[in-house]
Amino acid sequence: MDVSHILDSLNDEQRNAVANPSQHLLVLAGAGSGKTRVLVHRIAWLLEAEQASPYSILAVTFTNKSAREMRGRIESLMANSFTGMWVGTFHGLAHRLLRTHWKEAGLVQDFQILDGDDQLRLVKRINRSLKIDEDKWPAKQCQWYINSQKDEGLRSGNIDHFEDDYTKTMLQVYKAYEEACDRGGMIDFGEILLRAHELWLKNPQVLEHYQRRFKHILVDEFQDTNSIQYAWLRVLAGTQNQLMVVGDDDQSIYGWRGAKIENIQQFNVDFSDAETVRLEQNYRSTSTILKAANNLISNNQSRLGKNLWTEDGDGEQISLYEAFNEQDEARFIVDRMQDWFNNGNRRSDAAILYRSNAQSRELEDALLRMGMPYRIYGGHRFYERLEIKNALAYLRLVINRDDDTAVERVINVPARGIGGRTIEQVRSVARAENCSLWQACAKCVNESLMTSRASNAVLGFLELIDELSLACSELELAEKAEYIVNHTGLIQHHEKEGGEKARARIENLEELVTAANNFDDPDIDEGFDLKSNAFLSAFLDKAALDAGETQAHESEDAVQLMTLHSAKGLEFHLVFLAGMEEGLFPHKMSIDNIAGLEEERRLCYVGITRARTKLYMSHAESRRMHGEVNLCRPSRFINEIPNELLDEIRMKSSVSRPSFGKTRIGSRVSSEISGDIEVPETDLSLGQRVVHGKFGEGVILNYEGQGPNARVQVNFDAVGSKWLVLSYAKLEVLA
Ligand code: ATP
Ligand code: MG
Repeated sequence: MDVSHILDSLNDEQRNAVANPSQHLLVLAGAGSGKTRVLVHRIAWLLEAEQASPYSILAVTFTNKSAREMRGRIESLMANSFTGMWVGTFHGLAHRLLRTHWKEAGLVQDFQILDGDDQLRLVKRINRSLKIDEDKWPAKQCQWYINSQKDEGLRSGNIDHFEDDYTKTMLQVYKAYEEACDRGGMIDFGEILLRAHELWLKNPQVLEHYQRRFKHILVDEFQDTNSIQYAWLRVLAGTQNQLMVVGDDDQSIYGWRGAKIENIQQFNVDFSDAETVRLEQNYRSTSTILKAANNLISNNQSRLGKNLWTEDGDGEQISLYEAFNEQDEARFIVDRMQDWFNNGNRRSDAAILYRSNAQSRELEDALLRMGMPYRIYGGHRFYERLEIKNALAYLRLVINRDDDTAVERVINVPARGIGGRTIEQVRSVARAENCSLWQACAKCVNESLMTSRASNAVLGFLELIDELSLACSELELAEKAEYIVNHTGLIQHHEKEGGEKARARIENLEELVTAANNFDDPDIDEGFDLKSNAFLSAFLDKAALDAGETQAHESEDAVQLMTLHSAKGLEFHLVFLAGMEEGLFPHKMSIDNIAGLEEERRLCYVGITRARTKLYMSHAESRRMHGEVNLCRPSRFINEIPNELLDEIRMKSSVSRPSFGKTRIGSRVSSEISGDIEVPETDLSLGQRVVHGKFGEGVILNYEGQGPNARVQVNFDAVGSKWLVLSYAKLEVLA
């Protein structure tokens, strides 16, 4: 059979990997060197050249999306379509096994899967029944403990306990949790992997069946497998089967979730006959982008080390933009994106990558303003996030106590002892009296319709809202948001949860204050009272509209937004890395320890190497974060890229910069002050100093629109940059 078409489009090393006769194979190679391509071609090769049955192939990918893509790519390489091959994620494949072998796995046939939220709720119930002090041992922490033990393959019965309080308590919860899951026929995500592993160990005949079946096992993104996933693979491969893993130690970015970069070294120990193939030619990026990535990652100490090169030309320099602040950064990115699109490119070939979810809000705002369709991967849009919806619910109650949805949402968030039964009671009073939940709460309290404990708890809620409302009446919008965030216990609520996710939620809450601060509504005129409920309403409407705005349809050509973590394995012609600042990226939590910093650097390497043709990096001189303006230093990662690869962008209309301390890097030039670009139909020009009745003095940065809609962006000394409608703003020119 002629199989040359499978090898034709590969280089020598790739061919060596695809047609390699060795039983165990490790493909260790840098980004964009064709690892995923090799894996796909290897499957085609097995099917066509080695006449392997599709039934004998098991391929593990990182996401369901990549699994689908992989199938598509294999089919396009092959004459006929095929069935019976297993391609999926670790979780997907393990779940499939458990559905088939529920009995052997010790499960009930209709076992239910618990997602993270369900799991947390269950842990909370358990903690309550065990009378565990929630302040000392938050449910979230117990949940984290349980999951990390499972990732290591440990059940409560296998854990040594040293009589310390922490382990004792965690084990007690873990054990009760296991029992509750068994009783209820429920399994969580970690359990799916652990059970599937135990299925092998406890059922030799099942294992044997699959070992006989899956003669060819292939794994992509191997550097990010955790202990239990690796153990599962190793057992399945046994002594007879072929196992090919492909990965890049420089792209290991899930250490915080239990992934073990050491699995790569361990592979060579466990399969000592394994051949290692290195791919060194990069086919994805321009030479400039690749050099930047190579230089950056060479700053990491713990590396297996490799050398990537490309035949591709230098291409354009990497553009580096120093924004005044986060709004300026977002506008810059969206403007460039628009240029790119106007030049006949597809939006979907462009991506904006960022370190923290909270960064997406400013970018989303700018995209919405331009009417540019976008899609966010792996995360909710800002105003749809749980923690934001909670805070907004409080703000809504400040305006309108009869907002039942808001009451439902936060009556017991954070927990204040109003249980499901009490809430049901309130609902039934509301139904009977045909009144709002708020009124029903008041009635229950006033007429002592509940136990005194429940009644006190409900009263606590009513008083809290009244108190918030009173305090807010004296505050401006951003202060209102800040007050709510700080006085509802929402921050503490998430602090107690602990972990990466909780940190992100707290950052998002702080970001809400920034959003409120930057909110300005062109429909609202000068003399408008910023403390009024109407202004708050306008803000809430905007939030609701933003959240309701449907994401671009699957088929629509849309810009891609995602965190650096979700960008793994993907490629785009145009990439923006936003927020390249110390503390943001590298993230402040990781700056002080080498291992954390190196993981951040790998994440940056992943980001840079997503770009095929053009890369932009941006950082802001000042960024409003956690409700306050911080002066930001550019990320050290920028300095780790050779100067000659970078091109510092001057603004199209060069304008003056605020006079506060600029932290310049190297010898790069800064934009010049220029006052000769005029705002049409006015006596204003860019760079000019103006004074505003409310915001004080500032510098004109930019303008857009004409006639009654003309707006200018002013960077105020006191409050940062704002867009103002000229016809309302009544700016006065300073000499
Ligand atoms: P990552 O580490 O980011 O996952 P990777 O090593 O898996 O990257 P691929 O995604 O397989 O790399 O390949 C990167 C790009 O280079 C793809 O567009 C792929 O089609 C192309 N490519 C790889 N090898 C070749 C080749 N021999 N000839 C032409 N194009 C190639
Ligand atoms: Mg890949």
